[in-house]
Amino acid sequence: MTATLPHVVIVGGGAGGLELASRLGRTLGRRRRAHVSLVDSSLTHLWKPLLHEVAAGTLNSYEDALEYLAQARWRGFEFRLGRFQGLDRKNKLIHLASTLGTDDEVIIPERTLPYDLLVIAIGSVTNDFGIPGVREHCTFLDSREQADRFQQRLLETFMQVQSQGIAAGSGQLNVAIVGAGATGVELAAELHHTAHQFVAYGFDQIVPEKDVRLTLIEAADRILPSLPPRLSDPAERELKRLGVTVHTGKRVTRVTPHGLYLHDGVFVHAALKVWAAGIKAPDFLKDIDGLETNRQNQLVVQQTLQTTRDDSIFALGDCASCPRPGYERPVPPTAQAAHQQASLLVRALARQLQGKPLRKYVYRDYGSLVSLSEYTTVGNLMGKLMGEIWIEGLVARILYRSLYRLHQRALFGGVRTLLLAIADFLTRPTRARTKLH
Ligand SMILES: Cc1cc2nc3c(=O)[nH]c(=O)nc-3n(C[C@H](O)[C@H](O)[C@H](O)COP(=O)(O)OP(=O)(O)OC[C@H]3O[C@@H](n4cnc5c(N)ncnc54)[C@H](O)[C@@H]3O)c2cc1C
Repeated sequence: MTATLPHVVIVGGGAGGLELASRLGRTLGRRRRAHVSLVDSSLTHLWKPLLHEVAAGTLNSYEDALEYLAQARWRGFEFRLGRFQGLDRKNKLIHLASTLGTDDEVIIPERTLPYDLLVIAIGSVTNDFGIPGVREHCTFLDSREQADRFQQRLLETFMQVQSQGIAAGSGQLNVAIVGAGATGVELAAELHHTAHQFVAYGFDQIVPEKDVRLTLIEAADRILPSLPPRLSDPAERELKRLGVTVHTGKRVTRVTPHGLYLHDGVFVHAALKVWAAGIKAPDFLKDIDGLETNRQNQLVVQQTLQTTRDDSIFALGDCASCPRPGYERPVPPTAQAAHQQASLLVRALARQLQGKPLRKYVYRDYGSLVSLSEYTTVGNLMGKLMGEIWIEGLVARILYRSLYRLHQRALFGGVRTLLLAIADFLTRPTRARTKLH
């Protein structure tokens, strides 16, 4: 680190943090106006909205993972591996936990890292709301490792059932997904697609219509409760056409190894269970070194994205609660918001270093797109000129795919993103459509 340059530390290299580090590296870092460091607890980045595809095996996480060390070299920032676990605001230090090796031996001891400006962007974790059995028996989709593990279990279960040759009625292929937000809905459709792909790849003892039972459970009175009601109907119709059982207005009260109890006493048998029913910021953020946090442990920030009690600490994305003037609820925890906030902070941090006043962040909702695997995509687009338009099918699918390309563009620039898209298209026929290992 160059001693004379101010040190900007970004903790969390996800949808927002990695975009910010990549763009700041090119501006402040390369121009030697600041030393930019990114800290993450993992060595690789995978865009979180892809995790349900990883879990279903329709995306190979190894092909899309980006190495932070390489990105740091390309974009002019420094990468530090480490798990953020504490904060010392008085001395402007963050505390990182010791890093363990493959045999659980300490390879890097606990350490501290000084900052002049700090951006906390560590995302969220699944909220189990304290419901008994959830943590023990459900899969969460918080990380690539969890999604990979679910894909392995799914494949192993299919292999087991195929080798037994007596699939029908065994219940081994019953999957329950709790939470019918975009993640749950998209996962249900991906799993349906995967089951049919397995059969196409030789799992001929399995008849998906009879042997694979997919159940989606939602406490609200409709699926996709945080999206406009007009999206819920076509999505639910499509899921039902695929044979997915949809329970709305049902709360899960307990989970066992064999299934889930609903509040009305109904038991849903499921060998595989995914919990996608809500998020919170990690528990250690709660009141961290006197900063203001809310009931979901999110750091409360002003519209400048500065935490309410410390102007040199910013927070963005899922771990931040940012006010949305005119609305009761804060900015929603989406990749769209994390991306917008990262874009604002690229300029804001430079201005903060120069002592200039900061602009306020205003969330712009450009609409939502929900992909039901290869079957269909539904969504709405919002713009100043066109107002709100509703889309479905191929156009919606192309736009849905382009969201990931926009994230790649923020990381790599336009030319490399185009090359990646072309490479993807050309190599597609050489890859299995479902991960088979
Ligand atoms: C399956 C799924 C599908 C989704 N689909 C969509 C979608 O279609 N559209 C949409 O807008 N949103 C979607 N989301 C939500 C979206 O992924 C998040 O809102 C977005 O990723 C938040 O970005 P972030 O930068 O705040 O955090 P993240 O992208 O989660 O990144 C957090 C980063 O912090 C790191 N980290 C965590 N803890 C620590 C620590 N203690 N120390 C160091 N590093 C740490 C993590 O390794 C990670 O790299 C989806 C989420 C899921 C799970």
